[in-house]
Amino acid sequence: MEVIRDGKFYEEIRRQVREFAESEVKPIAHKYDREDKDIPWDVLKKMAELGYFGILVPEEWGGLGLDYMSMAIVAEELSRVWLSVGSVMTRNLIAETLLLNNGLEEQKKKYLPSLARGEIFAAAAFTEPNAGSDTAGMKLKAEKVKGGWILNGTKTWCTFANRANILVVLARTDPNPPKRHLGLSIFIVEKEPSEAHEKIKHPNIHGELIETVGYHGMHCWTLHFEDCFVPDENLLGGEPGKGFYQLMATYESARIQTAARAIGVAQGAFELAVKYAKERYQFGKPIADFQLIRSKLAKMMTYIEAARQLTYYACRMKDTGKRCDLEAGMAKLFAAEMVEYVTSEAMQIFGGYGYSKEYEIERYWRDGRLFKIFEGTSEIQEEVIAKRLLEIY
Ligand SMILES: Cc1cc2nc3c(=O)[nH]c(=O)nc-3n(C[C@H](O)[C@H](O)[C@H](O)COP(=O)(O)OP(=O)(O)OC[C@H]3O[C@@H](n4cnc5c(N)ncnc54)[C@H](O)[C@@H]3O)c2cc1C
Repeated sequence: MEVIRDGKFYEEIRRQVREFAESEVKPIAHKYDREDKDIPWDVLKKMAELGYFGILVPEEWGGLGLDYMSMAIVAEELSRVWLSVGSVMTRNLIAETLLLNNGLEEQKKKYLPSLARGEIFAAAAFTEPNAGSDTAGMKLKAEKVKGGWILNGTKTWCTFANRANILVVLARTDPNPPKRHLGLSIFIVEKEPSEAHEKIKHPNIHGELIETVGYHGMHCWTLHFEDCFVPDENLLGGEPGKGFYQLMATYESARIQTAARAIGVAQGAFELAVKYAKERYQFGKPIADFQLIRSKLAKMMTYIEAARQLTYYACRMKDTGKRCDLEAGMAKLFAAEMVEYVTSEAMQIFGGYGYSKEYEIERYWRDGRLFKIFEGTSEIQEEVIAKRLLEIY
């Protein structure tokens, strides 16, 4: 049955998420970012209770069974306060999408409900030291042995790997396929969660922390797989060689979610800048009275709203079952450029104080810079968009 949701439904979601973000996340964001600490477990627990880890997962699999528009609003509202909290669901979302699209019945039963209810966390181990944008160039080796596969190689930039209960690993099962992208497969590797200062809790995975400019609250890791055994039943879909296509099919939803996070960060920075512009006096009046500051505010919100509408358009297409790789790619590309611009202008409005660590605006500026790099760099996004446009026109 088609569910028609009106504006009131989405506004109620926004109101509830904002209430949670303001009361539970805002008071800790600045301190936890400054101290580079992982998001506290009790915040994750509350998010799990609210269903945020399974927004798109059908109710029969333990999720809320909502649509992309709802998911975008949740990501936006959480990121408005702290990007990391707006991002912590992303890996579960990727794992859930992979399982829903490709998982065997047993794999779905084993992992989907606990992922959706936030009882377990996933981390995505796709990127390698020598293969980032070039997904088909992944080399981490999976060799067939009796009852399973042995993984050897290195993954990097694996966000939240310490806290994760499962790693979703893209590996090369065929070293000499007819085409590079055909020899890849996705495995689910189970591990124990740990804290950032501890070792990665798996006897055959050695982890090294990567220090980052922003995106604190979750830690990124380089992971060395050394003779790591994965049973046959943990090969996604049960058939090797499908990993590239399985992963590509998650990009629409991941890009929509990433664009929504960028809008949230920009909105948060904008609101801080407006407040400061009204309070800060120079030349005997609030700086908000100066035409050049008003011009900044006008442009900032125009860009935010343009990104928002592009993203909601992609959501509506996805929610009505239409192909939207082009629209999701455009939304992500534009939102990434928009948030870099908006957070930089917001910092400018704060003058010298914007550059001090005392004010939160510098966190938004650091976090905002990430969007052109992860979930597909802006250059790759442009390539994908142009390729599709050349097919259409
Ligand atoms: C904070 C953070 C968190 C991350 N989390 C995860 C995660 O959880 N899991 C995971 O698997 N990965 C993660 N990543 C990795 C991220 O997805 C990659 O950094 C990204 O895909 C780019 O890959 P790369 O860093 O190897 O850059 P490269 O691919 O080496 O690119 C370097 C530069 O060259 C450009 N370039 C590359 N190819 C082309 C081309 N064909 N045409 C034009 N320009 C090109 C790029 O756009 C970029 O500007 C994370 C990264 C960061 C920074």
